[in-house]
Order: sequence, then C-alpha cells, then structure tokens
Amino acid sequence: MTDTVLAGGTVVTAGGSFPSDVAIDDGRITAIGPDLAPDGGEVIDASGLLVLPGVVDVHTHVRLPSNEEPKRFLQDSLAAAAGGTTTFLSFNNPGTGISAAGQRSLLRGMAEFRERTAGESAVDFGLSAVITGQQDDPIAELPALIQAGVPTFKAFMVYDFRLPDAELARAMQVAARHGGMLQVHCEEPSIIDPLVEHALAAGDVGCRHHALCRPASAEASATRKAIELAREAEAPLYIVHLSCEGALEVVAEAKARGEPVYAETCPHYLTFTDALYDDAEESEVIKRVISPPLRSGRDVDALWAGLRDGILDTVGSDHVPDRVAIEKHLPAPPFPEISNGGPGIETLLSVTWSRGVAEGRLSPERVVDVLSSTPAQLFGLRSKGAIEVGRDADLVLFDPAARRVIHEPELHHTSDYTPFEGLEVQGAVRSVLVRGRVPAPGTGTFQERALA
Ligand SMILES: [Zn+2]
Repeated sequence: MTDTVLAGGTVVTAGGSFPSDVAIDDGRITAIGPDLAPDGGEVIDASGLLVLPGVVDVHTHVRLPSNEEPKRFLQDSLAAAAGGTTTFLSFNNPGTGISAAGQRSLLRGMAEFRERTAGESAVDFGLSAVITGQQDDPIAELPALIQAGVPTFKAFMVYDFRLPDAELARAMQVAARHGGMLQVHCEEPSIIDPLVEHALAAGDVGCRHHALCRPASAEASATRKAIELAREAEAPLYIVHLSCEGALEVVAEAKARGEPVYAETCPHYLTFTDALYDDAEESEVIKRVISPPLRSGRDVDALWAGLRDGILDTVGSDHVPDRVAIEKHLPAPPFPEISNGGPGIETLLSVTWSRGVAEGRLSPERVVDVLSSTPAQLFGLRSKGAIEVGRDADLVLFDPAARRVIHEPELHHTSDYTPFEGLEVQGAVRSVLVRGRVPAPGTGTFQERALA
C-alpha cells in the first residue's frame, strides 16, 4: 500500500542528490526510486523542487503553554513547520514557563514538560532537560531521565543558575556512564562578571554593553575548560551556540585528538557581526542582546570554514521567542536585566540554506547534514534526519529558485520581531510532511530518545 508519492523531485541527502520519487505509507518512507506507482495513493508533484529531510532543530527554548497564553507552544511549533523543521528539542530552563517545583527537580521538570506539552505541537518534539545549580540533587536523577527517553542535558557555565565546575564534571561523568550527553553553554564568568561590575559602576548600562562585557576570550576559555572536564570524565560533549574563532580552534584540537566533542553554531552568528551593536537606537540593539553576543567578521568567516571542514557539526536556532514589547521591553533596564535571546525557529533552514548554498559557501548535502542528519544522529532521533526507506516521512519540498525577503508580519512564531528582518533569502519551503501528514495542531508527538 502507498498513501502518498512525491513525484519528480530531486532528493537531497547528506551523501548525495539525485532525481527520485519518494513513496510514503503509514507515516514512513517505503520506497525511493524512479517512477514509483501511486498504488491508489495521492501524488504530490515535486517537479522543480528539492525533497529535503525535515530539519531537526536541537536548540530551542519554546515557551510552555500557560493560562494567559495557552497556544504559545503550539504556535511556535506551527512556525517550526512553516520553516521546514519537523522535529525540535526544547529546553525547560527557567524562563520557559516551567514551575518553581519543576525547576528544582529534573524528574518533576520532565513530568511537567510532558504533561503541559501533550497534544500541543504540530511537529515532533522532545526535551533536553536543563541541569542547574539550583536543583536539589540533579545528578542523582540523571539515570532515570535517560531511562525515560531524555538522554541530553543542558548545563550553563554562566548565569545565576550555572552549574559549578566540579558538579559539571560529575554530571558529565554520570550522564556518560548511563548513555547520556551534556550540552554546555560555554562562557567564563570569572572574565565576564568583573567586566559587568565595572561597566555598571561607570554608568555604562546601555544594551550594547551586554556585548562589550562578553568577549570572545570568555567563550574560548570556557570551551577549553569544558573540553578538559569532559576528557577527564571520559564523556562526550556537545558545545551549544559556538560563536567565535577562539572556541572553534579549541574544538578542532579536541577533534584532532579523537575526542567525542561536537559543536553547534546558529544562523545569527553566520549572518551578522558586532557592528550591529554600534547602532544608536536601543530599540534595535536590544534585539541583539543574546549570549554569546554577535562577533567580528573574522569570526563569521571562521564559522563558515568550520562548518565546511566538519569542525562544527550542526546548526541550531537557539530560538527564544522573546518579544521586544514584553520580555525584553523598552525603555531597556540596565543591560544585565534584559532577557537574553532572540527568535529563530522559523528561519533556521531559509537563512542557513541561503547564506550557505545560494551564496556558495556550502553544498546542499552539507546543509542537509548539519541541519538534519547529524543532529538526529547525535541526539538519538533514530527515525529522523534522513531520506531512507523505513525512516519517518518527515519531508520538506523546497524551491531553491524562489527569492523572498524575511519580514516579521509573514512569520508565524510568537515573538514580535525577527533578527533577520529585511534579509533577502533564496529558497523557500513549499510544503512539509511530518510522518507523512501535513502538520496541524496535535500532529506532533513527544520523541523518547536513546543515544547511539
Ligand atoms: Zn539556548
């Protein structure tokens, strides 16, 4: 039996591209080849289009539904679908709407996340739990979480909920022994904190001082430390949102030694430079209050080279659906009080493809690899991330010739701006299938994962 045949498109996988039909039955890919018979099923004309595996965005901070905003999680999942993302992993860090009780315990946090997100997503999704220094005994709970299908954890080396180094090392070790992996936000507080204090004492409270107080050296030195801790713990390590050349060099050295160190960057670090902080308007600079901050043009070039050479493994959105009008709000408070982050769940594929493939920096196959195949493989999403018989039919029909300009009113996310406003991109999502179905409220299911 066949439910659907995508006919006449060009299939793009991490290993190569070729003209081919794709047959789908019961949510899975059942055949890949020329002239597949529809066998009574629906035929979708894909001629002139690329057939990509759905994007797997392993770095989002989607907000949980609340009484005030019951559709917030759903709406961002619809935005993900519109942008070609068919699976996302969300963190449940403070700020996502997780309750105080859910913040104190990994197990309670997971139970609460699952309960509050059930039936609330249009695309498939999972949880990467956040380990903080404010939890009662998170390390004791790690094995049970991994057993329950949540094998990846984010820890922060900065912020008031940071994990002290000794605990970070122990968490790496315990997670590794039980088949888990830590994702670490690498910034060194002993470099950042004195700079912040000094800026505040001097009355330098404006938005741009956020970036000035978070130099690339703070990221590079924390990245080095995290890699050393992981090596001693004999643990794999995933570095989130790597933004600078110094951190990239440390990752390259670890990979050269054969260590299981993986690194991710984000579309904004591949697109913008810190020149945007020179903008006089606080209302613009506040949109770029993110950590790590935007870096120099030299760093941007280094990140592209890192993606090409395999030093960087993935691109994630680091989607934080903050609104300038609400979470960030103007007039801006002193910069340490501004909510960090920006939206990106809907623009991940279009920006990475356009800057990467259309502008000649990466091959289409490499973009599929860093957006779909490698994130699925590293994060234990075994039925995702590739166009292969037996895998979930999570597919994107993509028009590589289309040109459009990204504008906030045309996006579906729950933020009120996009960092990519006015950016002209080449390539557009024409349609999306999640397990063979058009994404709609409730079609997404929670993915229990196990790392390879
Ligand atoms: Zn993040």
